[in-house]
Amino acid sequence: MEQHSISVDPEFDEYFNRFHNYIGVNPVNIGAEFEVLPLPTIGQCLTYGNGVRVIQIDPVYWSMASDDQKEILIMHELGHCVLGLGHNTGKSMNGCPLSIMYPTTFGSSGCYIYNKGYYYQELASHI
Ligand SMILES: [Zn+2]
Repeated sequence: MEQHSISVDPEFDEYFNRFHNYIGVNPVNIGAEFEVLPLPTIGQCLTYGNGVRVIQIDPVYWSMASDDQKEILIMHELGHCVLGLGHNTGKSMNGCPLSIMYPTTFGSSGCYIYNKGYYYQELASHI
C-alpha cells in the first residue's frame, strides 16, 4: 500500500501561509503534493483510510498558473480539506461565483482579482 506522509511541497508553503493569514485557520496536518490528474481536474483533496488528508495539485496546471490562480486553487482545496466544505454553485447578481468553493476555478477573472477580500471573508464565515 502506498504510504502518504503529511508533508507540504515547498511550492505550496506561500499559499498555505496565505490561508492561515487571510482565512484565520492554520492548515496543520494537511499534506500537499504534485500529482498528474485527469483533465479537467487540476486539484483535489484526498482523505485516506487513516484519516490523513492530502491536497494533490496537477503540476502542468501549476506551472502555467498565475499567482492568483495558484492562490484560489489552494484556498479551494483547503476549503475542502480543512473546513470540510463541498461545492457552491451559486452566483451573485453580477454573475460572479458566491464562493471560492465554486466547482470550477476563476482565479484569472475579474470576479476574483477585484473581490478577494469578499472571497476570503466568505470562506472564513464557514469556520
Ligand atoms: Zn472542489
